[in-house]
Amino acid sequence: MSEGKFTFLFSWILAWSFFAINQLTITYDYLIKKPETIYVLTDSSEVDQYQDLKLDKNNIGKESGSNLVVNCDDKNYWNNISFKLNENQTSAILQFPRTPKEQNLGSITLNIYPMNAKVNKSHGYRLHTITKQKLLIDEEIQTVELEILNQVKEKGFKWFVEIEGKDKKNKECYKKKVFTLDIENFKNFKKIEPIYKDGIFNPVDTLFFDVSIIGEKKYFEIFFRTQELKKQHKNLPPPHEAGISLLEKTLNTIDGEYVEETLWLRNRLEGDVVVGLFGDVTSSDLQTMNKIIQTLHLVAPQLNISYSNNSYFVNLPIHFLPCSEFISEKSIGCMEDRYIGLFSHNHSSKVNTKEKFGWIWVDSSRSKEMRSHVLVHEFGHALGLRHNKCYDSVMSYNSLAPEMGHFSHVDLTQLRILYDPRIKMMLGSDNVIKNLNLNESLVGEYRNNDHEMCSIKNSLWSDLIEFQKGSLTIEMLYQNKKK
Ligand SMILES: [Zn+2]
Repeated sequence: MSEGKFTFLFSWILAWSFFAINQLTITYDYLIKKPETIYVLTDSSEVDQYQDLKLDKNNIGKESGSNLVVNCDDKNYWNNISFKLNENQTSAILQFPRTPKEQNLGSITLNIYPMNAKVNKSHGYRLHTITKQKLLIDEEIQTVELEILNQVKEKGFKWFVEIEGKDKKNKECYKKKVFTLDIENFKNFKKIEPIYKDGIFNPVDTLFFDVSIIGEKKYFEIFFRTQELKKQHKNLPPPHEAGISLLEKTLNTIDGEYVEETLWLRNRLEGDVVVGLFGDVTSSDLQTMNKIIQTLHLVAPQLNISYSNNSYFVNLPIHFLPCSEFISEKSIGCMEDRYIGLFSHNHSSKVNTKEKFGWIWVDSSRSKEMRSHVLVHEFGHALGLRHNKCYDSVMSYNSLAPEMGHFSHVDLTQLRILYDPRIKMMLGSDNVIKNLNLNESLVGEYRNNDHEMCSIKNSLWSDLIEFQKGSLTIEMLYQNKKK
């Protein structure tokens, strides 16, 4: 939270249905698509010791006597399940001593999760590899295709496979790690790519846009219009003293107290920023992203921000996944801590091009409006904004504030300062005050007046706010600015 390591928003909820690996083959054609939720907490640094649980062939098929134990939690049953990978090293073959149904199980799942998945150790792509898959309860032999994201493929990295049984009342009766996957023993790594839909992003903002789709003439027209839009930066309201005092504060709990937050080396986006939205993404999410990009053309014209449908080029990935119990427990703790979005800042000096500017997670089980709010809020963190107590701000931690899906006066005033082209390096507020010719004593006054610093408004921001809210098109925004 502090230093933008990760940041929260309230609330939480259920439902997990992404990246289903569901494929059952061999003799069965039946397939269940809906993984379910549940978790177990294991030390994420723990290295799994379970290997191929050997099938005790002597026991299989010989338990037909009348003294047969058929309890869900019967260790003898679980110890005699065989688990191995097929020859291609892509699928798991499971053999049960008898069908899970005959063992009085209500359901059985195969759970996969990566080592070191906790948010402070992980990168965002790992979220997509935390999956559960329902197995059939009336088959003794089952083959399940397993899939792991190519983006998280690393030497020495491991994924754990766990088997979990529940009784007929849906109560967990057994859970055990049965296998460890790594790049040596497993071959089914699949890439995930950002979601892209035609007609949403400005062609000029789309990395490697195929110009032949709209023709060169149209493309260059849009190109020059975008350049013009950037030039309108000079017509924005000048930097405002209240912006400094807002930038220097944050709060870590809803309706909490302000804490000081230095501007010294504040994280900012710089140079070539390539965004991609992954997972459970809708057109509305892409539209919100497009509005953020257009807004930044005006507020931060020096920023070269674009969208790509190729993960190779993305350096600020945004992951849309529902907060499930399993994801929460294995990684981001979204249920426990009741939050619905986060920004994880890349503190590493090691150049990680995949996440050069960090990564964002948005709880995709939320409404369209809430997702838009969360995306803008978390992107605000990526841009360098922190929380405030203002009513009218997307970064507000005021419980009375509405959940808006745009940058308000309060937010734009801060972005205006953070992205003023005169500031080459963020060397603290004194340096910023000097460089932007601001009035130091006025800044001091705002610092001591929570209400006043939230009240700043400038009608010159109105068009940009209306554009973000959808009441002005980009053409109208451009026309208005041109006047
Ligand atoms: Zn936040």
